[in-house]
Amino acid sequence: MPSNVTYAGGCIKYIKSKNTETLSQQQVQAAIMAIAHGRLKPGLKTNREHVNHVKDIISVKNTANPCPKCGSDMVIRTAKKGAHIGSKFWGCTDYPKCRAIFNISQ
Ligand SMILES: [Zn+2]
Repeated sequence: MPSNVTYAGGCIKYIKSKNTETLSQQQVQAAIMAIAHGRLKPGLKTNREHVNHVKDIISVKNTANPCPKCGSDMVIRTAKKGAHIGSKFWGCTDYPKCRAIFNISQ
């Protein structure tokens, strides 16, 4: 998960980590109005849709995320041996020339 996606109390910690003023009071008011206006009905259905929506965003972003070492695309692979056998991770398409990997955050 990206650092700005949290459960419950995690958002307070995230907000407190930001202390640079980037919006004027007027801009803040406008944003509050816009959020209140577009807010979905709270409930299980909205919650489920939100979780799926975030998962979609993450999968799109990660496939578009190039390899940090060589710039090739990253694909989901499954560990075939070692301590993490059976678990999935992002691996470079240029493997075995490039062995860069990163974890799939849940
Ligand atoms: Zn690579």
